[in-house]
Amino acid sequence: MSMDQATIITIRRTLRALRLERRRGCDDSVPGGVEELIRHTAGQLASAEVPRPARESLRRLEHDARGYHELPPNQRTSLLTRAEKLLDAIAPEPPPPPAPERPADAAPAEQALPPLALHDSITQLKGVGSSRAEALARMNIECVGDLLLHCPARYEDRRQVLTMRELKHGQAAVVRVTVSGKGRRTKPFRGATAVIPAKSGGIEGELLFFGRPYLIDSLAEGDELLVIGTAKIDDGKPAIAVTEFETLDGDGDAESAARIVAVYPTTEGVSQNMLRSWVAQVLERCALPDDPLPERVLGRRKLMPLPDALREMHLPSDLPATRASRHRLAYQELLGLQLSLALRRRGAKAPEPGSALAAEGVREEMVAALPFTPTGAQDRVMDEVAGDLAADAPAHRLIHGEVGSGKTVIAALALALAARAGRQAALMAPTEVLAEQHHESLRELLGPLGIEPVLLTGSLPGYERSAALEALAEGRVACAVGTHALFSEGVAFADLAVAVIDEQHRFGVRQRARLSRKGERPNVFVMSATPIPRTLALAVHGDFDISVIDELPPGRRDPETELLPEGLRERAWEFVRERVAEGRQAYVVCPAIDPSEEMAAAVETFETLASGPLADLRLGLVHGRLEADARHGAMRAFREGETDVLVATSLIEVGVNVTNASTIVIANAERFGLAQLHQLRGRVARAGWQPHCLLLTGSGNPETLDRLAVLTRTTDGFEIAEEDLRRRGPGELDGVRQSGLPDFRIASLIADTGALADAREDAFGIIERDPTLASPEHVALRELVRRARGSDMWTL
Ligand code: ADP
Ligand code: MG
Repeated sequence: MSMDQATIITIRRTLRALRLERRRGCDDSVPGGVEELIRHTAGQLASAEVPRPARESLRRLEHDARGYHELPPNQRTSLLTRAEKLLDAIAPEPPPPPAPERPADAAPAEQALPPLALHDSITQLKGVGSSRAEALARMNIECVGDLLLHCPARYEDRRQVLTMRELKHGQAAVVRVTVSGKGRRTKPFRGATAVIPAKSGGIEGELLFFGRPYLIDSLAEGDELLVIGTAKIDDGKPAIAVTEFETLDGDGDAESAARIVAVYPTTEGVSQNMLRSWVAQVLERCALPDDPLPERVLGRRKLMPLPDALREMHLPSDLPATRASRHRLAYQELLGLQLSLALRRRGAKAPEPGSALAAEGVREEMVAALPFTPTGAQDRVMDEVAGDLAADAPAHRLIHGEVGSGKTVIAALALALAARAGRQAALMAPTEVLAEQHHESLRELLGPLGIEPVLLTGSLPGYERSAALEALAEGRVACAVGTHALFSEGVAFADLAVAVIDEQHRFGVRQRARLSRKGERPNVFVMSATPIPRTLALAVHGDFDISVIDELPPGRRDPETELLPEGLRERAWEFVRERVAEGRQAYVVCPAIDPSEEMAAAVETFETLASGPLADLRLGLVHGRLEADARHGAMRAFREGETDVLVATSLIEVGVNVTNASTIVIANAERFGLAQLHQLRGRVARAGWQPHCLLLTGSGNPETLDRLAVLTRTTDGFEIAEEDLRRRGPGELDGVRQSGLPDFRIASLIADTGALADAREDAFGIIERDPTLASPEHVALRELVRRARGSDMWTL
């Protein structure tokens, strides 16, 4: 059976994404989700020449992959295994080409190598067998095109060649030498070193090859070498600890070796020289792809054409060219992402006649019933929200505001507008504790308007649940508050017009999409307290309008934050006792690396405190494993001041609101990201009294302490987020991976902010002028979009 190349590429890409998914522990983090990926692949294969039985298996697989994100981990793994086996069987990796039998008089093998195509398997390269292919796959290099996009970590400038005479101790250098005698091996502590005498610049010295004693036999007196290494000068006698060398056998050779070389990220079993020779082979054997970018963009942004960029990245002519090449490739990768965001936004914002929700007087009525006056920022964002809802295009807005800035009121307004227009609205929160709390607040906020929200969480008793479900499906209830349970299979809305998602970073794009699918293109508002650096916001939320509540209600004070070594924790407990004596309350938060240990950490701390340092106070305990009733009870007792100290897991991070709590002690603070710690301490910034945050850490690592100290210096969430991004990289930021941001091959959200801003402007401009990418100069861009959406990594 023959199968066309496009199908084979699809299958390989899917396979790659599935393997990545498995490596990441089956957390459904492939862009678009596993369910969608399999559906998409099966759809593409439906029209390909796939044998009947395989087609049947595919259909079953597609069926079983539905609801992947809800499967228990072991079933996810077995589903992945099945998918991989099946796809592998449909399009097996081509066997490495048979070693060409070389007649005695034939030309050398290099000249006989056939041309390569970008999607050819990496095993088509001379010198790549199955074990090296496996090592390469660990770096996501599976086809020839992947190798071309393997971006060097740095470059080494070997253009200046020295002699031994010119060396200084400790200097890293490229030196030209002549082997001047037979070497010897030493037997140091571990492995052996080849010590080989060499002449250079008229003086004698030694070359040291650690762990490579066999070189004694392969290097002979008179060999000319170019060595790269570090100079050691002992009593005037130079030696070089060699990391790399090249043998020079012609006169011109020293010049061709004296160049800028790429130094690649690599893995065990793959050396720099291997990578360099394979890349050189690809550049020689493979026709480079045409440039997909329109001339106009290339000219305007002064971008290097794609083939040049690929060549310069690997075999640079000079250092500025390496930067231009990187910039160009990063731009292209980011453009794909931005085009897909621009398209998504266009789809989301397409007008929907008759969808406007403009109930008169609702806002005034709600505000009049508030126990406080909205801040200026709240007023402004309410304008924006009401404006969105009064328009024909569905809202698609991110509302950002620090912890305590008062986002709940904004949500309440959106819900009320839908309910009063006779339609339905839902508010989704990431935890039950928070959903329950929202339910409470909304009853207070919306009660005066005659709107009675229902609660829908996983732990609701069966009869209550079915009553709520029925009421929603029949449209008897206008407003629902809940957790993920809101978008599970059995939930139907009669007429969902507004979906609000709180603490959105806890949800993936797909989960948000599932809630929106419960209605006919409902208005979507997502709310977040996680400050997100601007660059990242562009990359992740580029398809949303953004509102910022940049003002806290009056009377709030920034928490005073102190970093305490574990050894001084008694001081923290002392401090808590003093605050409690003043009538305040406190949180003690206990993280753990593994969420399953978190409960143990909290229980243990609770017991230690209750039987020791805080034995005279009233302590409560709350963690995610508690039954809903017990959890409820513990939260209520704390809220009503029946307990003084609440020991908790990080689940209180999101949204919990107890105004009398003024101190938060965070154990093992080093285990949290800065943004998360900032959110946690926001728990206590809610009332008139001076809030305090004590960070306990057992870490002695200066870098860690330095990182935590950022929180003692600033309370500006954006500054903290930038710092987090710089120190930990975007993948570690809350919710960034969930958001479906692809793993970039070249681009870095830290280093390529310029390219990102350009790509964004260009992408939105292009989609504005040509919404379907139909014009000839844009057709090639469709492929970029498809990749940004469909596969885990960019391939050429
Ligand atoms: P967020 O969700 O943004 O963290 P909330 O909506 O939970 O914040 O509000 C935090 C607390 O501040 C609540 O107790 C709320 O009633 C109160 N609040 C909200 N807006 C104001 C305001 N304008 N003036 C005074 N208190 C406010
Ligand atoms: Mg909130």
